[in-house]
Amino acid sequence: MKAAVLTAYNKIEWLEVEKPTCKPGEVLIDVMYGCICGSDQHIHKGEFHPRTKTPMIIGHEFGGLVAEVGEGVEGWAVGDKVAPDPIIWCGKCPACLKGHYPACTTLKLIGVDTDGGFAQYISLPPSMLYKVPSNIPDEHVALVEVLSIGCHAKNRTNVKKGDTVVIWGSGKVGLCILQAVRTVTDNTVFMVDILEPRLAIGPNYYENVIAIDASKENPVGRIMKETGGKGVDIAFEAVGHAHEIEGLVNPVRGCIQSVCGGGTICVLGLGAEPAPIVFKELIWKEAIIVSSRVSHGEFAETIEHLKNGRLKPEALISKVLHGSQTQRGFEILDENPAENIKILLDFRS
Ligand SMILES: [Zn+2]
Ligand SMILES: [Zn+2]
Repeated sequence: MKAAVLTAYNKIEWLEVEKPTCKPGEVLIDVMYGCICGSDQHIHKGEFHPRTKTPMIIGHEFGGLVAEVGEGVEGWAVGDKVAPDPIIWCGKCPACLKGHYPACTTLKLIGVDTDGGFAQYISLPPSMLYKVPSNIPDEHVALVEVLSIGCHAKNRTNVKKGDTVVIWGSGKVGLCILQAVRTVTDNTVFMVDILEPRLAIGPNYYENVIAIDASKENPVGRIMKETGGKGVDIAFEAVGHAHEIEGLVNPVRGCIQSVCGGGTICVLGLGAEPAPIVFKELIWKEAIIVSSRVSHGEFAETIEHLKNGRLKPEALISKVLHGSQTQRGFEILDENPAENIKILLDFRS
C-alpha cells in the first residue's frame, strides 16, 4: 500500500510500505480521507520530538471503510463506514479510575505515539471505532474527530439553550466549538480572531454570529456593548497561545472579562506560555474556569448531529488534496494559515 511517511522532520514522502495485516480482534480499514490537525503540524516540524520519531506515519483524524474483519470480531461488516477515535487511555491511572479518560497520565494517540491513518490502510481494534451511517459524505467522516473536540469543549461548559457565547480563536478548534454550541443555543456567538478570512467563516454559515477583529477593536468592549453591559454566559479560549496584542489583555483574561456573573470560561488552546490573569476579575463574578482536552466519547454525539444535519463540516474544509500531496498540504497550512482551516487528504486506493 501507499502511505504518507514522515521520513524526516519537515519531509513527508508518498512511499510504498507494507500493508498492515488484520490480526484477530482487529478490523482492517480502507482509509478514505485524512485531515491535517494542528498537532500534526507540530509533529511535522519535529516539535513533538522525542515523543514522535521518524520515520513514522502520522494522522489521527481520518475515516474509512471496513475492508476486512478479523477473527473473533462481531458487529462489523466489510463496507461499514467508520470513524476511529485515536485516543488510547490506560484505564488504570487515578484519572482513568475517576472516569476522567482525557486526563490519563499515559494518554496516547494513534498517529502520534503509534503509526496513524495517513495511509491507504490501517488495522485497529473495534473498541476504537464508531460506525457512521453510509449516507454521510466520505469527506465528512474524517472530520468526526475534530468536531468531537468542539463537542467535548461544549459539554465541559454545560452551555444551555439561549446562552450567549464568545469563542476566542476562529481556527480549526474555535470553528468546531461554534458548530457544537449551535446545536444547543441560537443566541449570539461572538468569534474573536485577527485573521479576516477566518473571521468570515462563522457569520457565513450561521445566523447571529458576530465576528470581532481583535487587531481593530477591543473584543471585551464590543462584547459588553452588544450585550448591554452584561457579558456572555460562556467564553471559550481556543487561540492556542497566550500572546498579547498590544493594548489588549491575553485571550484567557479577555474571556474572564467577557463573561457575566456566574459565567463559565473553558480553556483549551494548549498554550505553553504563562497567561497572567487577575483573580479579582474572576472572583467578583464567581465565574468558573474549566479546561478541555481531546474528547471523551463525543464521537457518538457528533455522528448523531451529522446524521441530523445539525453540523456543517463543509465549513471547515479549505482544500482537498490527494494523499501523495500530503507534504504540500503542510506547506500550504504554513504559508497561508488565514485562508486554510482544514486540508483533507484523499487516501482512497
Ligand atoms: Zn487533532
Ligand atoms: Zn489512564
